[in-house]
Amino acid sequence: MTVVSISNEVTKAMQERYAVPLFDVFEMNGIEGVMDALTEKRAPTIFGIYSPYAALPNCRALAAYVRCRAEDTDVPVSLMLDHGASVELCLEVLGYGFTDVMYDGSNLPLEENIANTRRVVAAAHAAGVGVEAELGHVGMGDQYDSEGRRGIGFTDPANVERFVEQTGVDFLAIAFGTAHGFYNGEPHLDLDLLSEIRRRVDVPLVMHGGTGLSDEQFRAAIAAGINKINFATSIMNSAADNMRLAAAKPEASMFDIHAGIRAAYSHWCSDLYETFGTARRA
Ligand SMILES: [Zn+2]
Repeated sequence: MTVVSISNEVTKAMQERYAVPLFDVFEMNGIEGVMDALTEKRAPTIFGIYSPYAALPNCRALAAYVRCRAEDTDVPVSLMLDHGASVELCLEVLGYGFTDVMYDGSNLPLEENIANTRRVVAAAHAAGVGVEAELGHVGMGDQYDSEGRRGIGFTDPANVERFVEQTGVDFLAIAFGTAHGFYNGEPHLDLDLLSEIRRRVDVPLVMHGGTGLSDEQFRAAIAAGINKINFATSIMNSAADNMRLAAAKPEASMFDIHAGIRAAYSHWCSDLYETFGTARRA
């Protein structure tokens, strides 16, 4: 196969109550670690390119690498822009063969978020590309004590139907108690809010900020309606730990150090496929 929009897989996940993960990748070793895991577990997967990296000159080449590797498996693999910072960047990566894009207007006033998301949807759908947008704002874990757990930025359920209807978005990222990066304090998920949003719309729902949640919290979020989960920070930290350990050995080679990245990705992804219910779905 080649890279495909993850739309069908996430819709299937919504019907059958599991979640498809997005793993952010930055270079070849990480991509290979995800490939090891998704091939072994036969788990549909989204490779995420984080917006600041998608703006670098080598993004087109990185996209081509993922596309080539997707041709080596029959498991559905998507290449997605993560947190697209502008409409222009979303449109640019369509030319690089991305199969899904996230436009992140979550810091903008509602009407502006709707208008910009509409522009991305119009161009992306014309190219057969799926679109995710964010309503409410998922903040940073290091501000969790002052913001996240107090409900600041949470998605207002009263806006959800209008947002989905007016934008035509394929997947909706919502804020209900998660945060990006490591949490300052214990994460608390507002599952009542998630359930209410689930009742109001029938698009797949996305949870950002997977790092730091327990297996029970993942399962509860999926049971209440989450169908796609973004996960990165813990993998990146494990990769850094592995590299430090390898580099501390006097005979360490560059290859030993690089292997730590691949091992971190394959270990985490394999585990998360089981927790999210994605394993053996392809
Ligand atoms: Zn995110």
